[in-house]
Amino acid sequence: MKDDDIQAINSEVTRLLTAVFGDISAIKLPLDLSRVLDYCGLTLREGTFESEELAGALDRDGKTIFVESADTYARKNFTIAHELGHFKLHKDMATDIFYRYQVNKPEDADDMERELQANQFAATLLMPEQFVRQLWEVTKEIDKLAQIFGVSPEAMRRRLQYLRLVAD
Ligand SMILES: [Zn+2]
Repeated sequence: MKDDDIQAINSEVTRLLTAVFGDISAIKLPLDLSRVLDYCGLTLREGTFESEELAGALDRDGKTIFVESADTYARKNFTIAHELGHFKLHKDMATDIFYRYQVNKPEDADDMERELQANQFAATLLMPEQFVRQLWEVTKEIDKLAQIFGVSPEAMRRRLQYLRLVAD
């Protein structure tokens, strides 16, 4: 991803968090996504997808995010935050289907880029940099941090790697 894109995503997340919660440093973790959804005028619907490969979907016109009810709390959070990323970043995208195993689906490069951007948005939203840095000083246990942020240990590790707090 280009540096400009990452900067744009950081700005968008900061704007959104400030609009919803006011003072970012006073946010309680894990992030209350229901307040973000309310602010965006989005409804969350949990259900069972027919395909096991699907984790989530966005219907922009219907202002609805769908999430697989059988998924873990951490997985649902990431899926919701991913779809919020499309909602805020890709206003031309009417719908999105979020695949569980999307890594091997590079059907077209633009699409792949948008997926990466939505994942970056999700990680930035759920694990704000200042909190990650503060809490990493308190505990270096990735599992414990993952629990605090309401994400999977893999997502936590990737965020720590991205912020260069742990080695790749
Ligand atoms: Zn997506």
